[in-house]
Amino acid sequence: MAAKTIAELDLQGRRVFIRVDFNVPLTPAGGVSDATRIRESLPTITHAIERGARVVLASHLGRPKGRAKPEFSLLPVAAYLAEALGRDVVLADEPAGDGAKKVVNDLRDGGVAILENLRFTPGEEANDENFSRTLASYADVYINDAFGTAHRAHASTVGMVKYVSSKGVGFLMDREAKMLSKLIGDVQRPFVAIIGGVKVADKIGLLESLLSRADAVCLGGAMANTFLCAKGVPMGHSMVETSKLPIARAFLAKAEAGGVRVVLPRDLVVATDAKSLTGTVIPATSVPDDQAAFDIGPDSAAEIASVLSRAGTVFWNGPMGVFEAQPFAAGTIAVAKAMAQLMGATTVVGGGDSVAAVHRAGVAANITHISTGGGASLEFIEGKKLPGLAALES
Ligand code: ADP
Ligand code: MG
Repeated sequence: MAAKTIAELDLQGRRVFIRVDFNVPLTPAGGVSDATRIRESLPTITHAIERGARVVLASHLGRPKGRAKPEFSLLPVAAYLAEALGRDVVLADEPAGDGAKKVVNDLRDGGVAILENLRFTPGEEANDENFSRTLASYADVYINDAFGTAHRAHASTVGMVKYVSSKGVGFLMDREAKMLSKLIGDVQRPFVAIIGGVKVADKIGLLESLLSRADAVCLGGAMANTFLCAKGVPMGHSMVETSKLPIARAFLAKAEAGGVRVVLPRDLVVATDAKSLTGTVIPATSVPDDQAAFDIGPDSAAEIASVLSRAGTVFWNGPMGVFEAQPFAAGTIAVAKAMAQLMGATTVVGGGDSVAAVHRAGVAANITHISTGGGASLEFIEGKKLPGLAALES
């Protein structure tokens, strides 16, 4: 059975442990540089406060590799949160132990505490039994609202869950699961996927799963370079994952056999390096030796827009080029705008850089769903069961 939501659980006077994703970028001075992830969990936290819960928040931040490191402290997060909630937020000085226990025990109804960075102990990522049990001892109710880590089986996302009888998802997690579910199973057709960015290895699982579900797959970014190279196009010194050429060839062959349309760039924007102030548009038949492809060209963007114009469902992950640099942003911005113009289609964007690109294009309000999870959204759409969600099903 599907997981319960926090709205269905009795919270009054109970210690409600909420696993949040407060893995936010920090400024060099140690402030929160982008609080999106904190803001996105506010509805869940506020709901718990209003229901009279004793709120215990827990998150990881960065990669402190199992040791307490001050530069990865959740202190700036706790300060931001206190400001946003307009109430005290007590930060325990450790994720688990006597200090953490005391902070939790001292909570009053409607009070908020946050444990120190979960990854200050190796038990978190190791999904250690003892650490899981200790975390569970702080919880009468367990809520997971950390979609971004739902694909990881850690102590705070999986290990502790079996020791807490009352459990469910927060509003953010619930929305992610409901919206991303629209892309698996019975989708509104045609289903078009646009995959760009880098790292064929990270995305090949998704690409293969799309072969049996999508009507068209449009490729861009460095991803497309590898596929163009696999088709024999000389790519100059473009970023190409040569070790992934066999996988790319196999994918193209399977797509052809299965009748899935693969749209590869027909033109490219090339330059000597990504710092160049201008790029040159060339047909995607041969990139000169001293040049590299940093964006798809205008004809490619127009072709993708035309495929999109008929779509019923669209999923986009990975920019079409080095969109951070103005001369190579046009392809990515054009795709974002084409997606935002669709009426009646379900449009979903996932992946840190792709989401940033959608905001940069100024079209976020016209996208059906912008996923907060990078790896987690890719695995969900690939059809994998996320351990963090599976643990909550009863
Ligand atoms: P996401 O975070 O949305 O999953 P990725 O991390 O896979 O996306 O890819 C984003 C990165 O890919 C960006 O930093 C962008 O500069 C880079 N990129 C896209 N196209 C190219 C290209 N042709 N050459 C080099 N880098 C590229
Ligand atoms: Mg990225």
